Amino acid sequence: MARVTLEHVTKRYEDVTAVDDVNMEIEDGEFVCLVGPSGCGKSTTMETIAGLTKPTEGRVSIGDRDVTNLAPKDRGVAMVFQNIALFPHMDVYDNISFGLRLRKYDDEEVRRRVEEAADIVQLEGMLERMPDEMSGGQRQRVAIARAIVRNPDVFLMDEPLANLDAKLRVHMRTELQRLHRQLETTIIYVTHDQAEAMTMSDRIAVLDAGELQQIAPPLECYNEPANLFVAGFIGSPSMNFVAGELTRDGLETENFSVEFDPTGVPGAGPGDAVTLGVRPEDVHLVDHADSLARPTRRIEARSDVLEPMGDEIFVYLVLADQAERSMEEDPLESPNQLLMSVTPDTDIGEDRDLEVVLDRSKIHLFDTETGDALLHGLDDLTEPDADTTPTEAED
Ligand code: ADP
Repeated sequence: MARVTLEHVTKRYEDVTAVDDVNMEIEDGEFVCLVGPSGCGKSTTMETIAGLTKPTEGRVSIGDRDVTNLAPKDRGVAMVFQNIALFPHMDVYDNISFGLRLRKYDDEEVRRRVEEAADIVQLEGMLERMPDEMSGGQRQRVAIARAIVRNPDVFLMDEPLANLDAKLRVHMRTELQRLHRQLETTIIYVTHDQAEAMTMSDRIAVLDAGELQQIAPPLECYNEPANLFVAGFIGSPSMNFVAGELTRDGLETENFSVEFDPTGVPGAGPGDAVTLGVRPEDVHLVDHADSLARPTRRIEARSDVLEPMGDEIFVYLVLADQAERSMEEDPLESPNQLLMSVTPDTDIGEDRDLEVVLDRSKIHLFDTETGDALLHGLDDLTEPDADTTPTEAED
């Protein structure tokens, strides 16, 4: 077990900065996911920890040791990759024990470690199988067992479940969490799948264009995203964003306004471009908004496309008149669209006129220019006519 520290780690290739001044402290025994879109620098960050690549600048420490210039084998790390490279001509036992035998451990110690690891990943009774007699999930467990026998201080896993089918991936996620509980070892895990990161980790490190955007527990990234990038990346479907401008009375967007005292918004004032963010589950039909303590005023909308998911229905709402919509507009980028999620028993159809409200406590405000979050939830802001119900608040 060991803490992993990255200090000002930068990795530049000829014309790309793959990792840009990343600072991160991963606690002893913590499960941290590095997450972000393809090309954001996840693997390169991991490789600097593993020792497979040397940072152009900065320092990597494992425990109390500066390992920046150490070879991978001297770092106390074990790696599991997406492509499970098992030796096809060796059985499971030989595959798992290969590294130990190479390091000349005595036979008894090798057997003890292999059996213990096989037990942890539930491969008992399969030690004599050949790789081509096993499923993808079983092969991946062999790869994990091979890492376990090395008794590392830190596990490094780079998309280890990416090649498995969806059902097995979900199953293996649970197994990895169990493994982490059992071994209590630091795990650093790379994935582009935000759902995988949300479900497994103690903390998520969100990267974009080589830069660390936020490192925080999953729900904190979800409820208090540091900026527009994290807000849009974490959560599926993505948060709605509506461009607007702060006024003396609150926020004005093309199709609706939200009233509050703007002096309560730190770092922005009237005239500033501010983006409103709201998740689909925080958009409510007026008739279903009784439970909301502080809804916004009513917003007129028309239901466009419905996507029934079984446990919820996604409703694409159009805010402006159909006639005002430009045909070229990309519906996903349009300021005139909102995605709402409702329960499956909701009486709703396509092409209906509706009225919706937003949950004021779940509205996020972002600086449009920098993308930085200004405020999560409008609860603390004074609201003019705070006592008016949505019905009475109609202009
Ligand atoms: P991710 O794992 O998030 O997909 P990577 O860390 O693999 O991202 O890559 C980050 C960026 O660095 C990408 O733009 C990639 O093309 C670039 N890159 C990675 N490795 C090399 C390399 N060996 N030579 C040149 N560019 C590289």
